Parts: sequence; structure tokens; C-alpha cells
Amino acid sequence: MPLYKPAPEDPFSGPYWYNPYEQVHPGGRWLRANFHAHSNTWGFFTNGRNNTVEDILDKYDSLGYDIVGVSDYQKITETQGLSGSGTTSGSRLFIPVYEHGFNLLKTHQGSIGARKVFWNDFILPHTRSQKQHILNRLGERSALVALNHPAWMGGYGHRDVRRLSGYHLFEVLNDFWISEGLWDEALSSGKSAMLIAGDDAHNVFKPTDLARDLTMIFTSGPQGTSCPPETVYRALETGAVYGIEVTKSVARGSVMQKRTCLDAIPVLQSCRIKADSLFVVLNGRARQFNFIGQEGVLLKSVQGTADSVTDAAKATDSPAGAGVVADSAFYILQAQDSYVRVKIALPDSSHIYLNPVMRTTGKNIKPPMPQVQKRRLFTIFDS
Ligand SMILES: [Zn+2]
Repeated sequence: MPLYKPAPEDPFSGPYWYNPYEQVHPGGRWLRANFHAHSNTWGFFTNGRNNTVEDILDKYDSLGYDIVGVSDYQKITETQGLSGSGTTSGSRLFIPVYEHGFNLLKTHQGSIGARKVFWNDFILPHTRSQKQHILNRLGERSALVALNHPAWMGGYGHRDVRRLSGYHLFEVLNDFWISEGLWDEALSSGKSAMLIAGDDAHNVFKPTDLARDLTMIFTSGPQGTSCPPETVYRALETGAVYGIEVTKSVARGSVMQKRTCLDAIPVLQSCRIKADSLFVVLNGRARQFNFIGQEGVLLKSVQGTADSVTDAAKATDSPAGAGVVADSAFYILQAQDSYVRVKIALPDSSHIYLNPVMRTTGKNIKPPMPQVQKRRLFTIFDS
């Protein structure tokens, strides 16, 4: 196995801002997605009883999800043609996924848009080069690679996320673990890894496994239009996505209660940069907007307004329509800011996590992940 040089740890820099939500407009729609759920294929989780692939599809269909990824370990599960009872079949979008990893320390990866399973792993604690090697191999076999629940059991350490590259997504929200602080470390060291959120459900008959953390994906086509998988991959990679950590108050609720809760959560209407200010508009009420920057520092906290369209909403292109209660906030971007992300607390204690706007060297260019470089062996002899 090759050894790899640590990726550079330089913060984002440059005269421009990259805004992942530049294309988001009220005429598009947000797909509800979960890329992380396990079926009973591996038996021991549920003693082979329920929790079949069909059970998973059925539950998530009932919850109004557009994308239901069955991410069994080392297995790509085909779900086209399988219909759940909760919705009309055919509306669900199939994205091939699996979870890679059978090591003891939960260093797991999500393979999204998976073409082929990679069958190697290291059972014992991974070195950074081993972790980098697996990410590279997965990258050759799938559209996108995610670090799954990275902070859980030290699956990825502080130095790992600052020095690894070659992955696309960071599973910030997972039912077992929230990796928000570790994500700020990756972002602070110039890794433009975009957010993903997932339930990591192991038994869909346990209410606490369902609809806890979800990924919302923007597509510009209106309701009812088809959306090819490539559009989803592109949205995930460019960051036109946000995560929702659903309020704990419905953790033990029924599928119907959870569905009602999800349907009531406001969606992002716009996130724009205008004259060096970042404006965020929701199509419903928020309790608080937090703007977070380099090294996870809280830059500004704004209380949501109860029931009126705020000045910030009026100042953007997309004010809420008549009769719609909107809420919004803005932050004046400072010279020293390298990235700014927004975390929104909703009145029911659900939280929305937006991807960051990042400094970049060219207009509309997402800062690239650093190139992965192999270390030359015997460098001591050839200098
Ligand atoms: Zn896992």
C-alpha cells in the first residue's frame, strides 16, 4: 500500500465567494433523501425478522421521501421496481449506495452513486495513509464518497480530517452521532466537503431509527418532473443541499406524526450574497439563525421574528409571497472570514444546517479538495 503525503491545511482564500445556493430559487423543489439505512441482510441486527428492503422502502415512502438509499455493508441493493405501499411507485428515485467498512473502530464510508463494491478494509486501527487509500479506491468506484459518522468512536480524528482529501461529503448529521465540530475542522483546513445527513436506520420498526436526520436536495425542475441521478450527484457535490436534525419531540412518534412534522418544517427559500452580505430566507418561521465561521466560531446570532416578513427578506429577490410567513437573517461578510455557514433553530427545536459559503480564487468556482499525493519511498536517497 502506498504512503500518502498529508493534504495541505490552508484555509479557503481568494477574492470571490463560492455560494452553493446560488441557483436556489422558489420555483424549484427540495427532494427529501436518506442515503443511510440497513436491511436485515446481515441477519444479526434484527435476527432476520423484519426490516427487509421492502419494509425500508415502505416506511420512507410513507414519510414522503423522494430518495431511499438502502446502504447495506459491502452490498449495493437494487430497489428499482420494488414498490412500497405508502406512495405511488415510480416517484421514488433510485440512487445506488452502500456503506464501506468492517473495521472495529467505525471508520466507515458512504459510497453514493456506487458502481462497484470495494472489498478491502483494514480490521485494526487505520493509519492516515490507509484511510486515504480506501477513499481513493472508493472514489474510483462511485460518483461520490462520504465520511460516514466521522466523529463516532474516533472513526476519523482531528488530524485525519485536516489532512485527508479525495472525498466529497461529510455525514455531519447521523442518528448515532453529530459531527458538527469535526466538520468545522475540515472546512477550516480548506476541505470543501459538503454536508450529508442520514438516519443510519438499522430497524425501521423502531420509531427512534426513522426520520431523525435527513438530506434536502435542490432540483430546479418543478414538482412532477423527473430528476436523473446525475442531477442529484451534482447537487450533492456543489452543495445545493442542506441537512435537517429533526426535533427529538417526535423521535418516538408514529410514522404519521413524523410525516406531519416533516411536512411542517419550512424550506430554504434563498441564500444569496449581495454586496458582501449573506442573506438567508426561509419560507416559514425560525427561532434563531447562527452564523458560524473559521474554526467553528460563532460570528453572529439573530433571533427569528415571530410573524412578519423581515427587512432582509424584502431586500432579496425572493421575498415570501403574500400571506406566507417568512423569516430571514443576514450577516456582513468580513475580510478575515474564510467560510461562513448557517445553522437555524426552528420553533419546534428542529435544526437546519446549511452548507458554507467559501472564499475562492475564481467566480463560481467551488474551492477544490486538495490533490492527493503519494509519498515517494526512499526520499532520503534521492534528494
Ligand atoms: Zn457505519
